[in-house]
Amino acid sequence: MYKCAGKRKEKQIQMNSIKDIWAGIMEILSSKLTSTSINTWFSDCEPVDLEDNRLVLYTKIPYKRDIILQRFSGAIRDTLRDLFSCDFDILVLAGDEELADYKDNRQEEKILPEMDGYTFENFIVGSSNKFAHAAALGVVKNPGRKAYNPLFIYGSSGLGKTHLLLATGSAIHEKMPEAKIVYVKGDEFLNDIVHSIREGEMEEFRQRYRYADLFLVDDIQFIAGKERSQEEFFHTFNNIYESGHQIVLTSDRPPIEMHLLDDRLRTRFEGGLMADIQPPDLETRMAIIRDKAGHLGMRFSDQTVSYIAEKLTSDIRQIEGVVKKLTAYREITGDEITKERVDKAIADVIRTGNNVPTPEDIIRETANFYNVSVEDIKGQKRSKNIAQARHVSIYLIRTLINLTLNDIGMLFEDRNHGTIHSSIQKIEKKMKEDKDLADNIRDITSNINSRQRQ
Ligand code: ADP
Ligand code: MG
Repeated sequence: MYKCAGKRKEKQIQMNSIKDIWAGIMEILSSKLTSTSINTWFSDCEPVDLEDNRLVLYTKIPYKRDIILQRFSGAIRDTLRDLFSCDFDILVLAGDEELADYKDNRQEEKILPEMDGYTFENFIVGSSNKFAHAAALGVVKNPGRKAYNPLFIYGSSGLGKTHLLLATGSAIHEKMPEAKIVYVKGDEFLNDIVHSIREGEMEEFRQRYRYADLFLVDDIQFIAGKERSQEEFFHTFNNIYESGHQIVLTSDRPPIEMHLLDDRLRTRFEGGLMADIQPPDLETRMAIIRDKAGHLGMRFSDQTVSYIAEKLTSDIRQIEGVVKKLTAYREITGDEITKERVDKAIADVIRTGNNVPTPEDIIRETANFYNVSVEDIKGQKRSKNIAQARHVSIYLIRTLINLTLNDIGMLFEDRNHGTIHSSIQKIEKKMKEDKDLADNIRDITSNINSRQRQ
């Protein structure tokens, strides 16, 4: 990533690949140097990489490296500074061996740790996910193809969206090790923007994302309603899209249900291919259970498999949790797996599966949604936005986790139960008249649930 400050010049905006950037540099150098110099020293010089504030070049012949560095590195650096408003180092690789070594190292760096374990091979296909699966394979076959760009995968939590997204990344990495793959979660993108604005590092922020060959964005729903983030995301999206590079997004709901999403982003998202994932049918659930157990070196009886599959119908993460628990139990005790044991594992997973948000989770998510701080929500300020966020979080704590009015009051600087009761009533009444508020509350609830299950 580039550690730049200040604004990139307009001229650069159209440059989307390292080849374009190098062509731009050569054009500027051509106006400063003789064509003989250019031909002699640069005719077989190629750009390899532009990252971490470093331009990496390749030339076949070792002595040319010395000349390039001694005579021309100053001019190249000046040009880069002109384009990006920051300083760059220059590394010149000479000869095939150095190039191969460099590429090997880079390739290893380009494998994202998140992709580990997520492949198409271990993704079980059934009627509920076969369209999304086929679409992801289509992307791997032909990244950047208009009909699949962006690919927008949506569905509830625990149905395999992240799995498909990262499997797409792994498969593209296998096929094109050079490809720059950028993976980010919607809420991390938000945090990154907030941090970059605060630190005055927006240029660096942009560089991080805009040169992606494959841009994977998980849980994009978190950016809805965040003005500045949507704006930045829009530019990032366009830059990547217009360079013909591939974008894959996941969301827990389709664009049309992202109520606070910018219309222009909605149009972009809907302009590619949308693929939903539904909860798996019984047969697929059974196949998943067998497969997950098989990976752990375990075989369940048919009865156990269908019993689990009948009990857990909507979240594959829970199914996986139960399989793991039963496998561990069997390994540790050597005992047969009984129906009671399966029931216990299911109860454990449902209880500890982070499916119940805490009041703090709800307050945090509501604060996030309304762009106010947790302290303000809990405190005494009465500005409209803060008061609304406070009432909504109180309402959600009551409806989602059913805390007593007294307990809720304690969370909000010891407000008495009457105050809490009136907040809840206010929201219940307002929701009936105000569709936007009802939509917002639905969105916040989905955000809370998505984050719980991440
Ligand atoms: P989401 O992103 O939709 O919330 P994930 O992709 O994180 O869901 O999936 C939850 C878990 O279930 C992951 O461990 C994933 O590997 C597993 N999983 C989901 N769908 C499948 C599938 N079709 N085959 C195998 N495993 C799956
Ligand atoms: Mg996910």
